[in-house]
Amino acid sequence: MNNLRVSVKAPAKINLTLDVLYKRPDGYHEVEMVMTTVDLADRVDLIPLDHDEIRLDCSASFVPDDIRNHAFKAAYLLKERYRVKKGVRIYIDKKIPVAAGLAGGSSDAAAALRGLNRLWNLGLSMEELAQIGAEIGSDVPFCLYGGTALAKGRGEKLIPLSSPAPCWVVLAKPPVGVSTADVYGGLRVNEIKAHPATDNMIRAIEEQNFSMMCQSLGNVLEEVTMKLYPQVRQIKELMLATGAEGVLMSGSGPTVYALVQKEMKAQRLYNALRGFVKDVYAARILGGNETDVLD
Ligand code: ATP
Repeated sequence: MNNLRVSVKAPAKINLTLDVLYKRPDGYHEVEMVMTTVDLADRVDLIPLDHDEIRLDCSASFVPDDIRNHAFKAAYLLKERYRVKKGVRIYIDKKIPVAAGLAGGSSDAAAALRGLNRLWNLGLSMEELAQIGAEIGSDVPFCLYGGTALAKGRGEKLIPLSSPAPCWVVLAKPPVGVSTADVYGGLRVNEIKAHPATDNMIRAIEEQNFSMMCQSLGNVLEEVTMKLYPQVRQIKELMLATGAEGVLMSGSGPTVYALVQKEMKAQRLYNALRGFVKDVYAARILGGNETDVLD
């Protein structure tokens, strides 16, 4: 009987590329994205309860604490599917900004799946966990594996990639929450002007070529979100003016990040952005799979 609490790190992801190929008959968009995890992370604690219930608390009070929470849904699906008659209290220490394009909710779900697999001794493989994860959200399978990957389909089909050149990532989120559905809704796939050079990005990662990685950044949702929220463009321009080597909006936004190699430059960018927006973070790209269970 495992009565220990389990704590799991839930890192944010950034998109190095995001391309939309076409809209599918099922309503989803067929995407091609290169994603990588950064060391800005939530912590998900899983504490056994002595009765059969899922309870969730989050340090950010505006995040839902019921089945609408992706981590709650992960616990619910595991209990249903594997007839688990045990209770758990999920506590999320939220550090990743919410509705920001950084897959915070998906990463919490992935952390819950990994942690509960251990707490409840389910013995499920990563593939089995990823299948359940894909029912919760398209980014959950990527968050389960972590590291760097090319994601296809609606984001759930993964091809692992090696680690990119080590660098600093300075992230800034303007004070708006973006609905992913609204941004995709505003995208006219036939009118996309420039598709990202996904092959070049993959080569840059394989060769650990930092400047090629910066040149190959691209996100077809950027223009849509910038029209809705001009602050996104302003942040991007400020980052470039302050010496960022590569700048891109992550996911459907509104978070914009800058890549730099030198810590001094990251510090300068961080300070410059803090004068403009409140939510600024300095992080590193995580090399391998560092999303492990902590306890
Ligand atoms: P997506 O691209 O899936 O919209 P995102 O990274 O932009 O993801 P999230 O932080 O995952 O944004 O939040 C999106 C929505 O999901 C929020 O509006 C929030 O209400 C809901 N949500 C569900 N579970 C969580 C969670 N554990 N943490 C944060 N938000 C969550």
